[in-house]
Amino acid sequence: MKKLLCFVLSLMLAMSAVLALGEASETHFTPGTYESEGQGFGGKVQVSVTVTEDAITDVAITGEMETPALGGVAVETMGDAIVKAQTPNVEAVSGATVTSTAIITAATEALQAAGADIAVLDANRKDTAEDVVKEEKTIETEIVIVGAGGAGMAAAIMASQAGKDFVILEKMPYVGGNTTKATGGMNAAETHYQKEQGIEDSVELFAADTMKGGHDLNDPELVKTLASKSAEAIDWLDTIGADLPKISFSGGASTNRIHAPADGSAVGNYLVDKFSAKLKELGVDVMLNTKATELIVEDGKVVGVKAEGADAFYTIKAKAVILATGGFGANLDMIASYRPDLKGTVTTNAPGATGDGIVMAQAVGAALVDIEQIQLHPTVEQTTSMLITESVRGDGAILVNQKGERFTNELLTRDAVSAAELAQEGQYAYILFDQHLRDNLKAIEKYVTNGLTVQADTIEELAEKLSIDPATLAKTLADWNEAVKTQNDAAFGRTTGMNADLSTPPYYAIQIAPGIHHTMGGVKINTSAEVINTEGNVIPGLFAAGEVTGGVHGGNRLGGNAVADIVIFGRIAAESAVAYVSK
Ligand code: ADP
Repeated sequence: MKKLLCFVLSLMLAMSAVLALGEASETHFTPGTYESEGQGFGGKVQVSVTVTEDAITDVAITGEMETPALGGVAVETMGDAIVKAQTPNVEAVSGATVTSTAIITAATEALQAAGADIAVLDANRKDTAEDVVKEEKTIETEIVIVGAGGAGMAAAIMASQAGKDFVILEKMPYVGGNTTKATGGMNAAETHYQKEQGIEDSVELFAADTMKGGHDLNDPELVKTLASKSAEAIDWLDTIGADLPKISFSGGASTNRIHAPADGSAVGNYLVDKFSAKLKELGVDVMLNTKATELIVEDGKVVGVKAEGADAFYTIKAKAVILATGGFGANLDMIASYRPDLKGTVTTNAPGATGDGIVMAQAVGAALVDIEQIQLHPTVEQTTSMLITESVRGDGAILVNQKGERFTNELLTRDAVSAAELAQEGQYAYILFDQHLRDNLKAIEKYVTNGLTVQADTIEELAEKLSIDPATLAKTLADWNEAVKTQNDAAFGRTTGMNADLSTPPYYAIQIAPGIHHTMGGVKINTSAEVINTEGNVIPGLFAAGEVTGGVHGGNRLGGNAVADIVIFGRIAAESAVAYVSK
């Protein structure tokens, strides 16, 4: 026993000597500025590191191609983090792993070129301050909005315009949530844009399409509200500079109803940018990095939230709370608990979509609806979780299995195409397209620069690269091109996305499988966005809007209805909360 104790003691001494040596190792650089670059999400990210003999004094990062709300945050913040830490190995920005890794790798290379030993930099890192003791802070306000995605920001603009005192919390270091991922547009009926463009539509038709698309599981009253308030929501967007004048067709709609930005850019980033600009103009600061953890209840009423920020614990006292925390598509444990069959499925969701609002609302008695209704997106690249936009199929791509054969009408609803993929051997497929399609769809460049595509000059060569029988794939393609020529897909009855065949080399393929995309279920609300408890009564002081709620989409969400949901019910939640606190 004594011997063992001696051995342990001497080992500890030896270890502390090694540690001491590590600490004693000095950082040495050859002074100057060193540059390197890494592969980001949208393109190259350049890193320029300036060092003196013993310190990193400046890290400048440029990456114009990075998504402003995600990779852009890494580009903006990681340089300072590296200077603070005096090592390139700083924490990645959550949700921007690709850009963060590119920055860390490029900074590492630049510092190595400056003669640094990265292990020594890590041993001497300067950002390991003792555990921060967080202060307890109390804030008093009228309304707390939890979550700064589309619904939360729409509600915040309304609350500000109504002259109310409020705070808006966002747990991530950036705003936007899943809303930034919305690519299509916003469904709305009887809008002035439709009238100007001679498109006939009606509120009743919009409601009927939504019910049908949702397999009639939707709450008809919520759907009626969605449809009847959609045109005024479009008018309101106009007033804040977020016009959506470009109208087109989207799956499940009886007419052209999906409204998008004039230049056809993705609706999500567009709205998040416009909402952020409006909030700035109104002087509203979003409390970033601040996570609501609990609803405060007094005498049966919700009267605030508890929250945790980077350097404080908050008790925020208010008269009303709006939950706009989004869905739970990024909480894979929660997904598996409601849908064991989806265990292990990748997700396209932003990292903040962890169902916090659902859990907090449930803790104060809220009822949940359709919680097991989860939408899969059929074309998700599995190693990066990158969503391959529906437009690739809409513009003419086909899906083939490992045998090189088509197996479905590629433009059926998302649930049907996903199910067809899961029925294939290996539960995956390849999305196949040609140079002509690439030339006409900007989104493809991102897939190519991120190395997701396999490319070949002939279809046979592509087949070989994918370990598919070349003759089978060549026949599949020839049959498809014939179907496009005759506008008759006898095999699977496809009638859309057949404007161009696939005959311009090089050919491309991306291996894809379904990924979790949208959680349709959530907290039960009424048409005033008041949260309903398990007894069917309103919970006073608690409002909810957006993906945190259930009932609007039923068993399947139509493309264009998520954006409609967040704008319309975000506005309603704010109106109701404003009326409630003004009583
Ligand atoms: P919606 O489309 O309904 O607006 P989003 O996913 O776009 O939903 O936005 C929800 C936002 O709420 C995200 O930015 C997410 O990070 C944020 N959020 C989620 N949980 C919390 C929480 N507990 N506290 C603060 N913000 C949260």
